[in-house]
Amino acid sequence: MRVGIVGAGIAGSLLAWRLARAGIDVELATGPPGLRDATSVSGGAVRGYEPHPEQRELAVASLAELRADADLRRWADFRPWPSVIVGPADERALAGLDARIVGERELTELGWASLAPGTTAVRDDSGGRIDPAALRAAVLADLAGRPAVRIGARLAGEPDVLVYAAGAWTPALLGRAGLDTLGLRVKAIRYTVHRCRGPLPPIFADGPLYGIPLGDDLLLAGVAGEEWGVAPGDPPSRPPADVARLLRRRLPGLRLGPPVRRADATDCYADPPVLRLREVPGTGGRVRAFTGGSGGAAKTVLAASARAAEQILAGARHDRAPALPQHPQEESRVQQ
Ligand SMILES: Cc1cc2nc3c(=O)[nH]c(=O)nc-3n(C[C@H](O)[C@H](O)[C@H](O)COP(=O)(O)OP(=O)(O)OC[C@H]3O[C@@H](n4cnc5c(N)ncnc54)[C@H](O)[C@@H]3O)c2cc1C
Repeated sequence: MRVGIVGAGIAGSLLAWRLARAGIDVELATGPPGLRDATSVSGGAVRGYEPHPEQRELAVASLAELRADADLRRWADFRPWPSVIVGPADERALAGLDARIVGERELTELGWASLAPGTTAVRDDSGGRIDPAALRAAVLADLAGRPAVRIGARLAGEPDVLVYAAGAWTPALLGRAGLDTLGLRVKAIRYTVHRCRGPLPPIFADGPLYGIPLGDDLLLAGVAGEEWGVAPGDPPSRPPADVARLLRRRLPGLRLGPPVRRADATDCYADPPVLRLREVPGTGGRVRAFTGGSGGAAKTVLAASARAAEQILAGARHDRAPALPQHPQEESRVQQ
């Protein structure tokens, strides 16, 4: 069996790596150069606690693999750091996690202010930060040394199974191939990196405001928005959200300096918001999409890629389905 994967972000690269390690011939299409993908700018915050149960299960399994594997930790440049997710949580969702519910007193000790009475949060000590671009680069380097793997800008031949793992480009690629777009949607994600002084906070999500300390004196921070349907990789320019004002109100101990860098990018969203293998209807299981991480796939991609590879391997044992539709080779140029 030969599997063709369209897209070499963290999702496509890790899926190719899982399959290649299982002895499958893999062809990985990296697409046109210069696209600003999610993997290259991802904040890389990882933790076990996630409100959605499937997302949480994948995040916990991914962290377990990361923590157990020194090579993966090195490839991903894993740095442990606590996370705080402000807002109510179901205590049952914390079972088995290195996480607990904290109240106003602990949040205040961590630097929070302007809290409504009775505010609680989940504090998760299991995770930290990875560098998704570094992990992808290491995985691609490993794949390049494997004889059963071909990596090129485009797929050269007709694979037995075709997987679209092109992140935010996936729905348009499916649509252009005349295939169901699976309800996948594109949303903009933007952040600003500030220099700051004062004790660095945990990685946090506090309503729409989120922050990821990058070490030293840098804090990545953004406000989650609702910019749907933007062009993949290239959301329209917009004045930055007033992240600094929100940060000063919630974390007044942080002395923010001027912004040093911004990222304006996109990701592929799905319902449920989970990175998983999705069968494309009408293709007899031979065309799949592996995307839909919805702004959180750095946390789940290790386990999600292992699971997707298992599903493809299981599918290979079933009867062959009808021929593949023509896979689009030119479309991403149209998407740029
Ligand atoms: C700004 C930002 C911050 C984030 N922060 C976090 C975080 O802190 N924690 C977390 O868990 N998640 C985070 N995420 C989410 C996570 O990074 C993404 O879900 C993940 O990187 C998506 O990976 P992907 O491989 O699905 O897509 P992408 O990384 O977007 O890769 C898709 C690839 O497909 C390629 N492609 C496009 N067209 C074609 C074609 N025709 N042929 C072949 N290839 C093609 C593109 O070049 C690209 O390389 C963040 C996302 C963004 C945008």
